[in-house]
Amino acid sequence: MSKTQTPRPIRGTQDIFGPEAEAFAFVVETFERVRKLYRFRRVEMPVFEKTEVFSRAIGETTDVVSKEMYSFEDRGGESLTLRPEFTAGIARAYLTEGWQQYAPLKVATHGPLFRYERPQKGRYRQFHQIDAEIIGAAEPQADVELLCMADQLLKELGIEGVTLHLNTLGDGDSREAWRAALIEYFGAVQGELSEDSQERLHKNPLRILDSKDPRDRKFVGDAPRIDQFLSDDARAFFDAVTSGLDAAGVRWERAETLVRGLDYYRHTAFEFIPDEGSAAAGALGSQSTVLGGGRYDGLMESLGGAPTPAVGWAAGIERLAMLVGEKGEAGADVAVVVEDDELIGDAIVAIGKLRAAGMSAELVASGSPRKRFDKAVKSGAVSIVALATRDGEADRRIKADDVHAAKIEAALS
Ligand code: ATP
Ligand code: MG
Repeated sequence: MSKTQTPRPIRGTQDIFGPEAEAFAFVVETFERVRKLYRFRRVEMPVFEKTEVFSRAIGETTDVVSKEMYSFEDRGGESLTLRPEFTAGIARAYLTEGWQQYAPLKVATHGPLFRYERPQKGRYRQFHQIDAEIIGAAEPQADVELLCMADQLLKELGIEGVTLHLNTLGDGDSREAWRAALIEYFGAVQGELSEDSQERLHKNPLRILDSKDPRDRKFVGDAPRIDQFLSDDARAFFDAVTSGLDAAGVRWERAETLVRGLDYYRHTAFEFIPDEGSAAAGALGSQSTVLGGGRYDGLMESLGGAPTPAVGWAAGIERLAMLVGEKGEAGADVAVVVEDDELIGDAIVAIGKLRAAGMSAELVASGSPRKRFDKAVKSGAVSIVALATRDGEADRRIKADDVHAAKIEAALS
């Protein structure tokens, strides 16, 4: 390739700019605010981990591990993977960093994730999530709190027409019994299933319920339901979650075939999905889950830790941002217009004082001096401070309503 040609961006990555970047930032800022209301502690996690962190925690038979990971050998010959999700890395840290001492630990984070998928609307190879986890909490109250937090977040983002779809996968025993019944049921029609589902029939039959392939969907409707296999404990757990949600006023729907893609889920599994025909469904197209998660009581053991109950969720920031809609870039609180280049020093002092007083401020000091005032008006600035020389004297004019004018005078004095 010629050296003068500009390299193209990598397929499935995004350069987010303008109103979309504002919507993205709004999602992250709102999440930061809400997670503090619920007293989740902030964590920052590595973007890459040893490959086994994900293959062991998520499960070899999942799509994420078998098809979607960005894995590579580093210069030392170690197999590393760019994180495809947050939960596995946070669980690893819980075990290696002694975070057990803080249990029950409520943590939140956000950042980029990487999955080798077919890029399309709402689906990228580098995408971003917000993520919340409660580790070391066995009681259904933890599930309820997490779901309330998700519900409040969506409300504060102004997102409507998205409903919580809720299921239980039961405890280990219920899940095993259900699994055996699914193998029997789908085994009888094995030849008619998609290739993927034929392959996962014995390894991971729950995943067939999650398949989007029409050949599988045909049989999913009549498949055995978890409710037939729930132990009394598992049923009581689910009842406690649903009555907690009812008490908190969180709207939910039972979704009996919802299993989630990953191996580690137990008990509660959930997704927030746009309602059919809603504006949200229109905005997202077929990539419809905005937020998903559940209880992963089995995960710590797969990483060599002691059994540790935990529950969490993650949501795609891009998908939330699409539902938030365009966020305009607001004009500055104050534009400082320099109508005489001699006064640039005064302008720099003034703008510094305005910013120090907490007002956003922008300097307008380029182009023809006579046109700068109009330029400031067009920029959408709420107020304007114009500096000019009149009759040989520096002169300051303020164009603002009374409230803003008083604030500006106070800052500049
Ligand atoms: P899907 O069924 O859409 O592939 P998933 O079950 O793989 O989703 P999770 O692993 O549960 O998704 O991730 C939680 C959220 O992260 C999803 O609900 C979605 O909002 C977002 N997400 C997942 N994969 C992508 C992607 N490739 N691009 C953009 N957002 C994504
Ligand atoms: Mg996926």
